[in-house]
Amino acid sequence: MNSTRRSFLASSAVALTGCNFIPSFKKGDLIDAHVHVWTPDVQKYPLARGYAVSDMRPPSFTPEQLFAHCKPEGVNRIVLIQMSYYQYDNRYMLDMMQAHPGVFSCVAIVDQHAEGLAQTMRDLVKQGVRGFRISAGKEKNLSEWIGSAGMATLWKTAAEMKVSVCPLVNPDTLPLIDKMCEWYPDTSVVIDHFARLGMAGAPKSEEVKNLLRLARHAKTHVKASAFYALGAKKAPYLDMGPLIRQVRDAFGPQRVMWASDSPFQVDPGHNYHNSIALIRDRLDFLSEQDKAWMLRGTADKVFFSSVAV
Ligand SMILES: [Zn+2]
Repeated sequence: MNSTRRSFLASSAVALTGCNFIPSFKKGDLIDAHVHVWTPDVQKYPLARGYAVSDMRPPSFTPEQLFAHCKPEGVNRIVLIQMSYYQYDNRYMLDMMQAHPGVFSCVAIVDQHAEGLAQTMRDLVKQGVRGFRISAGKEKNLSEWIGSAGMATLWKTAAEMKVSVCPLVNPDTLPLIDKMCEWYPDTSVVIDHFARLGMAGAPKSEEVKNLLRLARHAKTHVKASAFYALGAKKAPYLDMGPLIRQVRDAFGPQRVMWASDSPFQVDPGHNYHNSIALIRDRLDFLSEQDKAWMLRGTADKVFFSSVAV
């Protein structure tokens, strides 16, 4: 698509979403849309059944440890994603949000089969949660998982509360997510890590098509993230460029947000700088306006705006 056509589409997307500000791109006010934190204090914050302290790698990743990586890059706001170690106990993440006012937004995990699911979600939104993570991870029957009564409540309640559903899925689940977006057009959706395209070898063109097809739903977004785990899995991650370009062209930069997925991005062999630098400095097809949305504007709109509770 040529750039005139693309910028026309981008500006109509702005008009459609009723969001007519163009954020300026300035160093020092950037948002990382996906980080996990945890503490070695397992007395106060016990791990969920099935997890041992030895599973926590690194053994600790607190907000202070995160700030040492992200602040030198001008990242001052972060979306925390509930860590699997704590399963449905979102307390550590919420406590950290309270301890650092204005710094964090939160994506929680709830039990889709629990009684009173909608009320649990409402209570979490009151505490500052702006998204709910769903994960196809260990599900054997994906259609049953996504088609359950609890999942319907989750998508409906998220729409009512004006918060997002955040699927962590592999490419094979994209057609099911597409169906859900069709059934729940008012629900904002944020796909983690390009639906892990390229995690297990080069993505098939059918899989890429299935991700891009989600752009037809006005409230879908994609996280451009987890570069350490995708493609060649090697900094400077330039091989991710073509996918980033396709996603930006299909969704418009207003629906793409960069994220590091720390602490995994800061494992040995990778670092924080190389993740943000790919979007900020290394892809010449990204305009200053694209970067402003991807490094701040989109996540600001989706995860840091106030909601009616
Ligand atoms: Zn993650």
